Amino acid sequence: MSVANNRTLEILRKAEEGGYGILSLSCYDASSAIALVRAAERAKSPAILQLFPITLAYGKGPFLQFCLDVAHSASVPIAVHLDHATDHEHLELAVGLAEQGIPFDSIMVDASHAETDEENIALAVPWIKRCLAAGVATEVELGRLEGGEAGLREVSGTILTDPTKAETFLRETGANVLAPCVGNRHGSYKPFGGPDWDLDLLETLSKQFKGRIPICAHGTDELPEELFREMIRRGVSKINVNSWCRDPYVENLAEGLKNKPFPEAIEDATEVFAKKCEWFFHLFGSAGKA
Ligand SMILES: [Zn+2]
Repeated sequence: MSVANNRTLEILRKAEEGGYGILSLSCYDASSAIALVRAAERAKSPAILQLFPITLAYGKGPFLQFCLDVAHSASVPIAVHLDHATDHEHLELAVGLAEQGIPFDSIMVDASHAETDEENIALAVPWIKRCLAAGVATEVELGRLEGGEAGLREVSGTILTDPTKAETFLRETGANVLAPCVGNRHGSYKPFGGPDWDLDLLETLSKQFKGRIPICAHGTDELPEELFREMIRRGVSKINVNSWCRDPYVENLAEGLKNKPFPEAIEDATEVFAKKCEWFFHLFGSAGKA
């Protein structure tokens, strides 16, 4: 197996060439997965459906197979990605499923909690090799993002990505997608006075890896629309989104379950999630590109 025709990489390569961004959205359940696919089909947009390891651990192979089925049977290109696989048991579950014939299109092998780059590489390489052998593309984080999101461990100590080290890191790990730290962080920016991204560093990295390694932006809660547009202009092609769609969905579902029949509450919440996805496809310029 190789990643020559990998679905995630194909979607990101076209986005980079076309100068648009790909919504890579955390889905926590079947309804949100269906909502993302429904929205992508309506907007004629490519997309990436991503799961957190905690969601995979909950639903295991059958739920991953369901996500692969809804994503891959869509009328537009949609890949299925595992976000932030840090723990041994989660990586073993995901990579083991790939080896048994239920492969994610891509997995983020996240060893950014390591103390040094050398340790990060040493931790990541064996998993990346197994992924590549199973045709699964890999994303890695170099530097370190602070903060936390629902389903992720809380991390402290921002380390900005060093472009020179990034070259060595990507070569030595053999990973396919880079998630850099340019001052972006997981969770709310409010306690820190708002986002403070080093956009020049972001552009340096995306120019350096142009045509070879797509750049993924993490930590997008509360960002202004203009910053999303700017990161795409500066070469980001994969944009991870989580609470933007999840929060209105959960709120609508909780309210709906109080006074609507169950299927109606589910349908209405699915539409809330889908409408927010469509908003992103238009903002990222991917609508009509599939
Ligand atoms: Zn992230």
